[in-house]
Amino acid sequence: MPQTTPSLRDLEQHDAFVGRHIGPNDAEIASMLATVGHPSLEALTDAIVPASIRSPAPLALADSLTEQEALARIGAIAAKNQVFRSFIGQGYYGTHTPPVILRNILENPAWYTAYTPYQAEISQGRMEALINFQQMCADLTGMEIANASLLDEATAAAEAMTLARRSAKSKSNTFLVAGDTHPQTLEVLRTRAEPLGLALEVVRSTDAFHQKLAAGDYFGVLVQYPASSGWIEDWSADAQVIHDHQALFVVATDLLALALLKPPGEMGADIVVGSSQRFGVPLGFGGPHAAFMACRDAYKRSMPGRLIGVSVDSEGNPAYRLTLQTREQHIRREKATSNICTAQVLLAVMAAMYAVYHGPDGLTRIAGRVARLTAILAAGLRQLGHAVVHASAFDTLCIDPGDAGARILERARQAQINLRVRGNGSICISLDETTTRADVEALWAVFAADGAALPSVDAIDAHAPSLIPERLRRTSAFLQHPVFNTHHSEHELLRYMRALADKDLAMDRTMIPLGSCTMKLNATAEMMPITWPQFADIHPLAPADQVEGYRQLVGELEAMLAECTGYDAVSLQPNSGAQGEYAGLLAIRAYHASRGEGHRNICLIPESAHGTNPASAQMCGMKVVVTRCDANGNVDMEDIRRAAEKHSANLAAIMLTYPSTHGVFEEDVVEICRIVHDHGGQVYTDGANMNALVGVAKPGHWGSDVSHLNLHKTFCIPHGGGGPGVGPCAVKSHLAPFLPRALATDGMRTDGTGDGPMVSAATHGSASILPISWMYITLMGAAGLRKATQVALLNANYISSKLAPHYRTLYTGRNGLVAHECILDIRPLEKATGIGAEDVAKRLVDFGFHAPTLSFPVPGTLMVEPTESESLHELDRFIDAMIQIREEIRAVEDGRLDREDNPLRHAPHTALQVSASQWPHAYPRELAAFPLPSLKQQKYWPPVSRVDNVHGDKNVFCACIPVDAYREQEA
Ligand SMILES: *Cc1c(COP(=O)(O)O)cnc(C)c1O
Repeated sequence: MPQTTPSLRDLEQHDAFVGRHIGPNDAEIASMLATVGHPSLEALTDAIVPASIRSPAPLALADSLTEQEALARIGAIAAKNQVFRSFIGQGYYGTHTPPVILRNILENPAWYTAYTPYQAEISQGRMEALINFQQMCADLTGMEIANASLLDEATAAAEAMTLARRSAKSKSNTFLVAGDTHPQTLEVLRTRAEPLGLALEVVRSTDAFHQKLAAGDYFGVLVQYPASSGWIEDWSADAQVIHDHQALFVVATDLLALALLKPPGEMGADIVVGSSQRFGVPLGFGGPHAAFMACRDAYKRSMPGRLIGVSVDSEGNPAYRLTLQTREQHIRREKATSNICTAQVLLAVMAAMYAVYHGPDGLTRIAGRVARLTAILAAGLRQLGHAVVHASAFDTLCIDPGDAGARILERARQAQINLRVRGNGSICISLDETTTRADVEALWAVFAADGAALPSVDAIDAHAPSLIPERLRRTSAFLQHPVFNTHHSEHELLRYMRALADKDLAMDRTMIPLGSCTMKLNATAEMMPITWPQFADIHPLAPADQVEGYRQLVGELEAMLAECTGYDAVSLQPNSGAQGEYAGLLAIRAYHASRGEGHRNICLIPESAHGTNPASAQMCGMKVVVTRCDANGNVDMEDIRRAAEKHSANLAAIMLTYPSTHGVFEEDVVEICRIVHDHGGQVYTDGANMNALVGVAKPGHWGSDVSHLNLHKTFCIPHGGGGPGVGPCAVKSHLAPFLPRALATDGMRTDGTGDGPMVSAATHGSASILPISWMYITLMGAAGLRKATQVALLNANYISSKLAPHYRTLYTGRNGLVAHECILDIRPLEKATGIGAEDVAKRLVDFGFHAPTLSFPVPGTLMVEPTESESLHELDRFIDAMIQIREEIRAVEDGRLDREDNPLRHAPHTALQVSASQWPHAYPRELAAFPLPSLKQQKYWPPVSRVDNVHGDKNVFCACIPVDAYREQEA
């Protein structure tokens, strides 16, 4: 017999990406299928997914590419973007990302694959970084407290508006805004005010503004400081007037400027918002960047977004945790202070590290250099005969070019320089950390009349006055805490970042089996393009002819997502899932209004829904009617039918999650769509669970009208420790006109651009991370995406069946199968032994695992979503841990372990506890630390023991731990 040589085609298969993304190989898939009792992936899919919704045809997407091929293709797209020098400003500035931060935070999976820090014990590192962020924002703004990031400056301003409404004593309905505020902020304020019935009054002239201030008819007032066109003013007297009228004073500001300027907190501001982008985070065509909100301590319980606080662990040592979560939509639902869930953690960590690295002196020097170059530029422009409009400035000059405007802009274009042109024809120039002497000279050359002699930087430096008036200079110290004054050499910073990362569990060490959050592989090849200059260094308002690559990327991704979901148009503007919900509900609202049915305001939401659903509905001015679920975890059809009939005249929408948050494919979904449509409502499908659907079924085809997707779940954007995210809003054609519009000054429209109000500051939201999802879809191809979904279903069912003898899976669907996740019911065990879901979650840490989703959507349960990326080996490791934990619970049941003093109640165990001379427990140390022999090879030690939640909420403390506390600890 001739020896068979493998064909070239077979050998090439080695490079296929699909097998690298999907954990189990085909032999493992076969054995797992045997465990769950189905002959093939196709048979399993048919058994799980109702025939009424299954897609008959494969996805119309290209075949999979290898990593090299896909990188080459996206490289060609990137090459179509042109990187000009940007002096556009308007809230986005050039910055040098310190290489040590670029590589060891932004490009480091220990940081970018982490989850939101709900499990405090395994998240101490990133929470320390976030508390540095909070301290940095509070210090620079001169405020008492700051949160751990918001989505962008514009939405932060909108959140400040509603915080002011909740907190001000004034009964007025008006929010007053000084006109020289960034245009995107005005857009989003308008969007948010309208459905809530708030009157937004934008006052252009300074005189009129002061008259309005004196008249006092407002609950809050917002000014931009420095103003959008650059001038700076002391608002202290105005703050007094505002307070006299029982209203709140909101300041939108710039952190770098505040290194030199009197901070808003010293002028009487109540709430301060802004972006931390220029602290080392690339422009990225508009995002993602971390916005912030700082406020008076009095408003902390009403503040939106996540807040890191300091509590103690069971040993009394300081430990960080997410504090005051009772404000959040998970608990407060339609009464929540905001719908924000995913925020911008990774970017907040970067900005905080930038401040840690440069310290107060470094930041002052960087800001000082920007201000000095600005003053020199201004003096030179005056010398060249130009009218610089404002006398004061930090980094931005506004020039009235007279009739030289067109000539200046043409010269700028030739010199590859982008300037900002305002509606009134004036030209703004913003300098930043990256600006050099050569840039200033190049700008002079652009503005000089033909043949004019150019000024000299050094000559002007000798006499140009500062543009920061004496009374506006900062005198107060900031960033005095040791963390901002220690890590200034690269070695020190490198080791600090490494030490923090080592405290945490992210996906670079273990599966993160979080239900609803789809923590799947974030492949390196998917991540690589985001830091390429052609994607990273582009201003969101760069002229359309410089961003052909972005236009292609956005257009192709919109089309891919439309194909995956069965919808007709997709907007990539929303920068989180919750923002996508908001955009989708606004589209529904506008659609009803366009048909003369603007009175429709009832939104049906099943009780099992994610908290962002009711919170978003409320923000759209809708009234939430909660419908029940039945004993099998399904939404209660009869209750929906009753509610739809009862509210027929006013029914606006239903929000359904599919497959449901209970982890099942409900049979009735098509019928529910029909009922809601019959009563004039629209169907919103929460697409957070698309990982169970891609390539198998399409919401747009079974009757749904709109969905948001979470690209940071299903489409591989890493979770970043709690952001960034992208929450595209996908709609059927009748809703497409109501998708968010492009920023007026930005020509870059795509198919997903509508005429609806903007929901984010930038036209394409978190544009610079879109390559990740584009790469994922391109690498997987149509067949790979379908297989990924099937293996996600298989992995969940494998865990559910392997654990069946030990834990009850609470809900199952057709044929006793679950969808892509399963809910393990701990409540019966708790009744028998006192060991609850939280004890199991914390005990998993001793095994080196991140806990599943705890007590959502059902209290006392754990929701496990393994995703297709987890290998059989990793699934079995998790199953072994869960079985061992069940044995321990059984030992408590049998009396072999004490009901109180057992390893579950005291989990997790720190190295300090286990190695201490005193061991106070009734169970052995070895059981505490090494409950399975495999842990002796690789062991994760949590840096703190169980964190005290009650203490943290009673004693809210959200700043860096004072130095004294460390000293006391050491003593
Ligand atoms: C994650 C999630 C959301 C919210 O998405 P964010 O990106 O965090 O705003 C909404 N619904 C469900 C079911 C989710 O799992």
